[in-house]
Order: sequence, then C-alpha cells, then structure tokens
Amino acid sequence: MNSVCGYSIAEYIQKLTDFHGNFAPGLFIGGYMVDIAKRHVCQYEIFDAICESPACLPDAIQMLTPCTIGNGWLKIVDTGRFAIALYEKTGGHGVRISLDAAKLDAYPEIKNWFLRLTAKSEQNRDDLIRQIIDAGDDIYSVREVTVSPGLLRKHKHGGRIALCVSCGEAYPEEDGTVCLACQGMDIYR
Ligand SMILES: [Zn+2]
Repeated sequence: MNSVCGYSIAEYIQKLTDFHGNFAPGLFIGGYMVDIAKRHVCQYEIFDAICESPACLPDAIQMLTPCTIGNGWLKIVDTGRFAIALYEKTGGHGVRISLDAAKLDAYPEIKNWFLRLTAKSEQNRDDLIRQIIDAGDDIYSVREVTVSPGLLRKHKHGGRIALCVSCGEAYPEEDGTVCLACQGMDIYR
C-alpha cells in the first residue's frame, strides 16, 4: 500500500517522526491500522477510539483521526496487545484492528520486530519498512466489536466542582467527599 490515510509513505514517515520525536516502527504500522479502521467506520459521523497499548499506537490515532487523549475521544485501555478500535460513540459499535502474529511468516523482519526475536541492533530498518509496505492489509486481523458500556464516553464536564477538604484543591464533586488523590490514588512519592 502506497498511502496511509491520504499521505504518501514519505509524507507519513516525516509526519510521524515530527510528531513522535523519532521514527518508531510501531507508529508506522499504527498508521496502516488506523487506515484500515477508518475505511470501516467511514459511515459514522463521529467515532471514538480505544488503544490497547500505551506505546506508539496512541500517537497514530492522534495524528490520523480527530481522537486525542486531550479531547477524551481516545482511551488507552492497556491490555498490552497491539490493537486499536474505532467505534461509533454512543452505541459502541465498531471495528478492532490488531497486528496478527499468525500472519507474519512471509514477513520475517516484521515478525522479528513484533515478537522481539532478534536484538534491535540486528534488525534491518529498511527491510522492516519495505515489508510493512509490501504487506499492506495482509498482516492485520479485523473484527467487528461492540465496546462495553462502561468504556463509552461519559460526560464528566458540567458537574459541580468542590474544594477538597484534605488538600484544598478543586475537583469534580461526584468523585466523593475528598479528591481522588486524597482517596489514595498513588501518583507521586
Ligand atoms: Zn484532595
């Protein structure tokens, strides 16, 4: 495949490098995954996204769709699997795309990278890029999904704000009598 979401391969590589800070194979592959997903959800006017990996993949969604962490349309649900889903935002019906290890035998560089079979220093980046381009849609699994209701977008904004009696900072009142940090959420040492 010679384009990713309307960008030429060279344009996409430049774009992802600028956005991400360096070239990441996972982000390159992520572009293909978003491209496939968008072809399936084009009938939805507004869609949300789930990313099952916190590394690289979220940036592909943020670059190539309107869904970002900041606007709340992209959620990271860390299952550790290399997969994304785009889905219609109210009903949760959509499509899940994953990189499929069972489909990589014809693409040894991708297999080596994905399953970490060889050290990074022994991987050939040009071959890897070439194989990802050559593979096109062939190395991904696509399935229809319906996202669990608990993960569908909730409208948190608009609720009342309280001042936490423990730390003094403002927080959404619906979170409880003190803020989530003072309820024990462990962020800083
Ligand atoms: Zn507090």
